[in-house]
Amino acid sequence: MTDAIPTPHLTLSDGHSIPQLGLGVFLVEPDEAERIVSDALEVGYRHIDTARVYKNEEGVGRAIAKSGIPREELFITTKLWNSDQGADTTPAALDASLERLGLDYVDLYLIHWPAPKYGKHVETWQSMVELRETGKARSVGVSNFLEQHLDDIVAASDVSPVVNQIELHPALQQRALRAHQAQWGIHTESWGPLGQGKYDLAELPGFAAIAEAHGKSLQQVAIRWHLQEGLIVFPKTNRRERMVENADVFDFELSAEQMATIASADQGLRVGAHPDNTDF
Ligand code: NAD
Repeated sequence: MTDAIPTPHLTLSDGHSIPQLGLGVFLVEPDEAERIVSDALEVGYRHIDTARVYKNEEGVGRAIAKSGIPREELFITTKLWNSDQGADTTPAALDASLERLGLDYVDLYLIHWPAPKYGKHVETWQSMVELRETGKARSVGVSNFLEQHLDDIVAASDVSPVVNQIELHPALQQRALRAHQAQWGIHTESWGPLGQGKYDLAELPGFAAIAEAHGKSLQQVAIRWHLQEGLIVFPKTNRRERMVENADVFDFELSAEQMATIASADQGLRVGAHPDNTDF
């Protein structure tokens, strides 16, 4: 086992610490998850982002158990699926995720989507806060919440989410939502940080020149940009050499001018679903 990657840690509003860089496992096949997460842990990742709907919590759990890494050195996130929302169903959904992961607690439990179809995000949030009291979820947060959804739950509870995990990459920088959630100390987690590979980073103005200037890949520049923006980021890859590449971002720094160039690449381009328009 190699040393942990030298990622900074951020302090969440509840006092817990989160490694700023991790690995996401969306679209990782159940029978591949153990190998992929084992590779990541060997490379030095200590933060894994999964979800009940990814159907790979068991494999993630097996990799954790086999690694022998002390539990307190890991940061594991999973998410409540939409059809499990509700005061009556949320606690059992977390128990089932813990069972699949083979863990006593997760570091972070998220409401995966506001899911307007169900209309239960407020009562679900209140249930999440109660789960935090049980210790089965050290921290609780949300994902894909828009301003209105955040306002709804903050008005109904004394506890703010520690994070909102939202689609965020150089072509969708979400500055208005980030400013809105910052008023409650809510950290932003970027999903799809590489645009899910659905557009070519080289087509963004100035991006290729910045990569060339640092002798880094386009993906390394994007990950470095997230880190310097203060975002929490967990790019997904199945390939070990890319895990190494994506973590090799601590030996260079983007200048203020380069950060400004990337800021100007924001096009409001969504590659995933809009939270108001989900039917799942
Ligand atoms: P991503 O932006 O991380 O892109 C993944 C794609 O980039 C893959 O196709 C991969 O092959 C490619 N890639 C990774 N590293 C590369 C490299 N060095 N060079 C070239 N290509 C590379 O997209 P994502 O997986 O959707 O997002 C990351 C994580 O965010 C997910 O795994 C998941 O944990 C989380 N997520 C959450 C939600 C949500 O609704 N909360 C939605 C999507 C993803």
